[in-house]
Amino acid sequence: MRPTGKLHIGHYFGALKNWVSLQESYDCYYMVADWHALTTDYANTSDIIANSREMVLDWLACGIDPKRSVIFRQSEVPAHAELSLLLGMIAPLGWLFRCPTYKEQLAEIKDKDLHNLGFLSYPVLQAADIAIYKASSVPVGQDQLPHLELTREIVRRFNNLYGNVLLEPQAILTKSAKVPGLDMRKMSKSYGNAITLDDEPEIINTKLLKQAFTDPTRARASDPGHPDGCSVFAYHQLFNPQAAERELECKAGKIGCVDCKKQCAKLMSDGLCAVREKRKAFAADKGLVESILKSGANRANAAAEETMEQVRRAIKLK
Ligand code: ADP
Repeated sequence: MRPTGKLHIGHYFGALKNWVSLQESYDCYYMVADWHALTTDYANTSDIIANSREMVLDWLACGIDPKRSVIFRQSEVPAHAELSLLLGMIAPLGWLFRCPTYKEQLAEIKDKDLHNLGFLSYPVLQAADIAIYKASSVPVGQDQLPHLELTREIVRRFNNLYGNVLLEPQAILTKSAKVPGLDMRKMSKSYGNAITLDDEPEIINTKLLKQAFTDPTRARASDPGHPDGCSVFAYHQLFNPQAAERELECKAGKIGCVDCKKQCAKLMSDGLCAVREKRKAFAADKGLVESILKSGANRANAAAEETMEQVRRAIKLK
């Protein structure tokens, strides 16, 4: 995950929740992708270290366990760059230009110039990130599937050219739907529509009451509502075991939006309470994140170096 700031409930339900449970059945590597942050944010790098720390605190608070999983920063494992360079030699440009996320983001992101090599080639760096640990499986959302396919193609090409060294990874598809933001666009830090994992109850309350988009056709509490296009109902589905009842009440005009928002804010605050408290405790433990990242980097470097030795020999550089 790229260190772009504090994490929000979209990150939790879209990725982290799944990451936590994967620790039960896999040896997991969770990487702070700081080099990947540079592919789009190369002009403003001052927050990368602070953002990395905030993100690791969020991971720990949600249950990513440094005793079970390797938590590390990409830039502390230089072999990712070496493998990326070598894979770049065999990755045809056409594969990269055809990548759907490349085309989409180039069209959508207008406030930065993305005609740089790093942005075009980031799926190659991603392939190196995965292949360097001989990862059998990668948890991805639907939108990342084309990237994983590219990794598989690059790995196949490498193995065909140099012998069977790297492993073709499989996708573990995260089924969860996109969590909408307060304005019903995708929840994202850059849209200012997010509820972060460390938001205090008063903030959650204010965000829901003042910002959350509800059914615009509803003038009075007694008008029948349409929960489907309502951000608050989406949050009820995530935090309220009785969401189905809330849906019926809304459709029957038996609950007003203000009451519904207040109930949702309370459930959300309670639901995030444990994460918030754990986060505070981890943050107060000075040096904790740094020492987790240091030991993670040691473990990651050892595993990466083992693969790199085989790669260098396979290419006959050694
Ligand atoms: P990246 O780290 O890939 O640049 P993001 O910060 O957007 O991108 O997302 C990190 C992870 O969190 C991805 O797996 C993404 O699918 C998930 N995620 C982010 N926002 C949401 C959301 N609103 N709903 C569901 N999942 C999300």
